[in-house]
Amino acid sequence: MTTAAPEAPLDVLRRVFGYEEFRGQQSSIIDRVVGGGDALVLMPTGGGKSLCYQIPALVRRGTGVVVSPLIALMQDQVDALSAVGVRAAFLNSTQDPDERRLVEQELQAGEIDILYLAPERLKLESTLSLLDRVDVSVFAIDEAHCVSQWGHDFRPDYLALSVLHERWPAVPRIALTATATEATRHEIAQRLELGDAEWFVSSFDRPNIQYRIESKAQPLQQLLRLVRTEHPGDAGIVYCLSRKSVEKTADALVAEGIPALPYHAGLDAGIRRRNQARFLREEGIVMVATIAFGMGIDKPDVRFVAHLDLPKSVEGYYQETGRAGRDGLPSTAWLAYGLQDVVQQRRMIDESEGDLAHRRRLSSHLDAMLALCETVECRRVQLLGYFGQPSIACGNCDTCLAPPEAWDGTVPAQKLLSTIVRLDRERNQRFGAGHLIDILLGRDNDRIRQNRHDELKTYGIGEELSEQEWRGVVRQLLAQGILAVQGEYGVLGITQEAPAVLAGEREVRLRREPERVVKRAKSKAAAELPSEALPLFERLREWRAGVARELGVPAYIVFGDATLRGISLVTPASIEELGGISGIGEKKLEQYGADVLAVVAAHAAAGMPE
Ligand code: ADP
Ligand code: ZN
Repeated sequence: MTTAAPEAPLDVLRRVFGYEEFRGQQSSIIDRVVGGGDALVLMPTGGGKSLCYQIPALVRRGTGVVVSPLIALMQDQVDALSAVGVRAAFLNSTQDPDERRLVEQELQAGEIDILYLAPERLKLESTLSLLDRVDVSVFAIDEAHCVSQWGHDFRPDYLALSVLHERWPAVPRIALTATATEATRHEIAQRLELGDAEWFVSSFDRPNIQYRIESKAQPLQQLLRLVRTEHPGDAGIVYCLSRKSVEKTADALVAEGIPALPYHAGLDAGIRRRNQARFLREEGIVMVATIAFGMGIDKPDVRFVAHLDLPKSVEGYYQETGRAGRDGLPSTAWLAYGLQDVVQQRRMIDESEGDLAHRRRLSSHLDAMLALCETVECRRVQLLGYFGQPSIACGNCDTCLAPPEAWDGTVPAQKLLSTIVRLDRERNQRFGAGHLIDILLGRDNDRIRQNRHDELKTYGIGEELSEQEWRGVVRQLLAQGILAVQGEYGVLGITQEAPAVLAGEREVRLRREPERVVKRAKSKAAAELPSEALPLFERLREWRAGVARELGVPAYIVFGDATLRGISLVTPASIEELGGISGIGEKKLEQYGADVLAVVAAHAAAGMPE
């Protein structure tokens, strides 16, 4: 890529990557770095961060050095760049000395445009002196939030990155992260000595992701319905809280004929690696995982992220759901949560180690998450608001699509609260939600009879609601802080907010679940494609799968879904027409152009009447 006069960034975008225009702030970020300035880039997942350093690396003289903690993914990143004709390589601990030496030679010969480096390698004096002998065009620090000690992804090796500024003051640096919180941003700037960096803060909205939260009744059935009716054949991630539920859920999906794989920290490293590789390389795999899975997974065509347990914080939830739809095509973020989640998480907080301040922080994270779950307003407005970004109702979340009703739950709340108070005062007894609901519904069972709870004033006074509805009431009273979980067995007690409710001084607004919106059974990748374009799209996918298998790379490295959609809509008849489609640059046109045109032509011929 060494040309006499530097090529303009837009020309590189079009020639190499085959994209027509820059997105959002890409252009100003790239101008800043090409001009030699530092930049701090905050952009959501899928926003297009990679091009922000890849293009300066190609435009400026020398090699761009990318520091990334994601060793397991470096091969794919290098493959993706090679596929568009960029000379890329990596140095990390997975290589043997010979492989590393080869890369070092190419580096010093100026034959590498972009080099990926693990932070623990960069720390080594041998690496630093190697870079002294190389013409470095730009330093990119990916996943820059790893430098933050307060976040959950802290990597001690990242602290050593301040050396870059001291050793190579003339080389521009660009730090990138998808972590949205203000505190983390400041910590990144400070620790990486990015005092002179210009900040580029993008909107954190992910408009192509549909956010939906429903209450948990039969979680597996609900998940199956989601996969079967909305995402047949799609790749997705299902998050569970515990290793055990990961295993159970993956088994259950497989038993239902869905290709699912487990992933959690308790699995052997080899199995983890293999499952991750299959998820990246094969199409339509559902990964069932704990949150140990996902950082840096830049598979662009994950069509859904499902949570079967309540996430611990809105930050975590947003980061996890953000792994859906990086390619900008319609995707789903779906969460099922229930009373048991609230009880369990409150208990985990009470039992957690650490001081009071720590428990308070956990507790406020949980409260924010519950507020998101129980809102009657637009989910996106609430999410973005949490990150300090004002917005208007989105039209693409469950509460916008089927607005839930708010209803006056004061009387049911009083019935429940007074049951708790009576049991406590009159008999010094405490119970969990299940038994309290049995009392309100006037049920007859051993526990009721043994305790003579059928003699209570509140016995059978709650028959106007179903059991499921009562669980909703309990859940929401917990979320609103009117009820509290006390002790180990999910025993419920009242809080200082309760007396006002009992006295009728405070109204309790509750949310009624709307009827579920029923969707067509069509994979999201094909959704919104006119039906006449579908057969060609499917044919192109088959062709792509064949090529990817032959080359041993993930399918998206050959062509992304968005590009295949473009081809099936345009049905190009010439190389020029094909080259005009987004995602087809110089190299891919040369490599695959004739084959793609042949697939299109064969398809047209097959559809021709005799
Ligand atoms: P991030 O690292 O911010 O999560 P990526 O850099 O992986 O996002 O980009 C997400 C997707 O968007 C990729 O498939 C990428 O090729 C595509 N993309 C990025 N910039 C553009 C652009 N200007 N035009 C079209 N597609 C783009
Ligand atoms: Zn909305």
